Amino acid sequence: MEPHMHRSLRQSLSSLAPVCLAAFAFTACQSGSVAAAPSPAPAVVQKDSKIQTQKVTDSIYMLVGRGGNLGVSVGEDGLLMIDDKFANLAPDIKEALAALAKDAGLDSADPRFLVNTHHHGDHTGGNAEFGADSTIIAQSNVRKRLADPAARRTMPKVGLPIVTFDHGLSVHFNGEEIRLMHLAAGHTDGDTVVLFMDSNVVHMGDLCFNHLFPYIDTASGGTVAGYIQNIEHVLESTNETTQYIPGHGPLATRANIIELRDMLKGVVKLVQEAHAAGQTPAEMKAGKLLAPYESWNWNFITADKMIDTVAGEFAKR
Ligand SMILES: [Zn+2]
Repeated sequence: MEPHMHRSLRQSLSSLAPVCLAAFAFTACQSGSVAAAPSPAPAVVQKDSKIQTQKVTDSIYMLVGRGGNLGVSVGEDGLLMIDDKFANLAPDIKEALAALAKDAGLDSADPRFLVNTHHHGDHTGGNAEFGADSTIIAQSNVRKRLADPAARRTMPKVGLPIVTFDHGLSVHFNGEEIRLMHLAAGHTDGDTVVLFMDSNVVHMGDLCFNHLFPYIDTASGGTVAGYIQNIEHVLESTNETTQYIPGHGPLATRANIIELRDMLKGVVKLVQEAHAAGQTPAEMKAGKLLAPYESWNWNFITADKMIDTVAGEFAKR
């Protein structure tokens, strides 16, 4: 057993100064020594369900299916859920929650709390299906964006977060502190990561696409620099045995998060150099500038799209 196997996040965070995001600066790369994290348990597939339940710890589960990954805390206080995919998956999510609640001997499978990591529809689409029975919590900008009458789909009142915060908030639930930490504008301007302080698990929201090029929603305030900065901040707030629930992709280890950060830094460096040499985004694409990172391509975010996003940020400077 590694000596740090049972370090909680509290121990990781105790060495950090109080979070002051405005003043948070880029930090040097961390050393590459990474201990092996526990390998994830196989997903449990409910027959005919569009949702697979994967055990992360004795009290935390990751629910996988179309849309963003869900995190669920299960214990004596009930259920707390992070994100809710799409409205049409709510019946399947509720079925998965009912199975977890039954195993835990709980009377109710309605989450007492529902956290939105950001406003995107593949993470908040089910809000209205859960909002009548759950207290929805999110960063202030998430509520603003969901309630915006000019939004593509305005959320009905029942699906709006009723508890909002600017910088951070803790829920003391199921025997531990569940810390919601708002970070600098990265994926959007309303990103929250959720730290399970004793279980040593983090839900990253869309600040982690595990081995996939990330979507950086610049139209919703996201920035490439902020995205990298936020990953650095999460790495500083966690340790070698932390398990990371990504917004998209399989359960991640610290090595996966470091790999994501290094990929993004590598992409920024290549685009920055090409931009300084006078190349246009079209020339960068034609020259296959991001060929070293081809394996991060997926249907929604390709290397070409990454070039547009990163070059767009340099063009604004
Ligand atoms: Zn998103």
